[in-house]
Amino acid sequence: MDDNGPEPEPAPAPTATVDVVVVGAGISGLAAARRLQAAGRKVTVVDKGRSVGGRLATRRISGARVDHGAQFFTQRGPEMAALLDELRAAGSVHTWCRGFAEPDGHPRYVMAEGMTALAKHLARDLTDVQVGRRVERVERRDGGWSLHLDDGTCLTGVAVLFTAPLPQSLELLDRGGVELDAGIRPELDAIDYDAALAVLVVLDGPSALPLPGAVQLDRGPFTFVADNRAKGISPRPALTLHTSPEVAARRWDEDDAALLEDLLDAAAPWIGGAGVVEAQLKRWRYAAPRRTWPEPCCVAVDGVEPLVFAGDAFDGPRIEGAYRSGLAAGTALLRARPGGAQDSSGTGGSSSAGSKPSTRP
Ligand SMILES: Cc1cc2nc3c(=O)[nH]c(=O)nc-3n(C[C@H](O)[C@H](O)[C@H](O)COP(=O)(O)OP(=O)(O)OC[C@H]3O[C@@H](n4cnc5c(N)ncnc54)[C@H](O)[C@@H]3O)c2cc1C
Repeated sequence: MDDNGPEPEPAPAPTATVDVVVVGAGISGLAAARRLQAAGRKVTVVDKGRSVGGRLATRRISGARVDHGAQFFTQRGPEMAALLDELRAAGSVHTWCRGFAEPDGHPRYVMAEGMTALAKHLARDLTDVQVGRRVERVERRDGGWSLHLDDGTCLTGVAVLFTAPLPQSLELLDRGGVELDAGIRPELDAIDYDAALAVLVVLDGPSALPLPGAVQLDRGPFTFVADNRAKGISPRPALTLHTSPEVAARRWDEDDAALLEDLLDAAAPWIGGAGVVEAQLKRWRYAAPRRTWPEPCCVAVDGVEPLVFAGDAFDGPRIEGAYRSGLAAGTALLRARPGGAQDSSGTGGSSSAGSKPSTRP
C-alpha cells in the first residue's frame, strides 16, 4: 500500500449503451418504453421498487388484496380508450361504479387483480425492465448519459427519460453535476408535491361502507375510503383509507405505531362492527403534484442526446395523465432520433433547445 491509501476500486464496466434509459417503471415510464420499443428503439427501464407500478401499488395482507396507491382510473381521451380496449380483451379490467355518493355517469375502472396489474400489463412485452435497482446519480458522457446505480453498476443511454416525481429526478441530476438550462430549472423546481398516508385495514367481517364501497370526504382526516372487496379485487373485506394532504404534512414525522393507532380510531365509522385482523400504514411522500406543467412532457436537453421529463406532473395528477405524458415523451424521443439526426418537426412537449423552454407552467 502506498501513502495514498488503498488502490481505488476499478469502475464497473458499463453495460451496452441503449437508445433510451427510462428511470421509473410507473405508468408513464412504461407507456413511453412501449412506444419506443414498438418503434424499434432499444430501451432499458430501471426502477428502485420491488415491482413495476410506482403509485399503482397492490399488497397482499392476511389473505386480502389491497390497493394502497391509486384506487381506480377514468378515461377521457383516445389514448386511454385504446388501452382500455386492450385490457378488456385481456379480461383484466372491470367497471367498479359510475360515481360514489351520487352516480355521475362516468365509469371508474379497476383492475381485477389490483392496480399493479395495469403496470404489469404494460411491462409484459418490454424486453428490459430492471426492478430493485435505484439510480443514484446521472452524468453527461460522450454520446449520451451514464446512470450510476446503487449496486455500483452503470447503465448508459443515448437518451434519458425521467419519470420519477420531479424532486427525486432533479436530485439525480444534481448529484451527477448536470446543469439544466437556467430558464427551465426553476420552473421544474417550482412543482412540489402533496404527501398522503394510506391506512390498510383487513377486517373479519363486512365493512360499514355503503355501496358501491367507497366514500369521498371533504372533512376529517380522510379524503377517500374504499373497501377492496366491494371493489371486486379482494376475497375478504379490507379498507384503504387515504388521508388529506394537510394531515399527512402535519403528522409526517410521527412514528408509525402512534399514527396508525390514531388513524384506526378515526376509521371506526367505516370499520363498523367488524374486527380488525391486521392494519398497516403506508406513506406516499410524493402522492400528487400541486401544479402541472403546461405540456405533456418536457424536453429539457434536446438534440441527438436528449433528456426528457414525463409523469403525472405534466399531464395531470392521475393515471390517465401519467399515461398520456409517457406516450408524449416516447413520441418526443422518437422525433429527436436518439443517436441519429435531429428531426425538426417538433417534439410533442416543451423544449429548452439549450436555451429557453417554449412554454411555462
Ligand atoms: C394515495 C394515492 C391515491 C391515488 N389515487 C388515484 C386514483 O384513484 N385514480 C387516479 O387516476 N390516480 C390516482 N393517483 C395518482 C396516480 O397514482 C399517479 O398519477 C400515477 O400513478 C403516476 O404515475 P407516474 O408514472 O407519473 O409516477 P410513479 O408511479 O410515481 O412512477 C415513478 C417511478 O419512479 C421510480 N423511481 C423514483 N426514484 C427512482 C430512482 N432513483 N431510481 C429508480 N427508480 C426510481 C419509483 O419507484 C416509481 O416506480 C393516486 C396516487 C396516490 C399516491
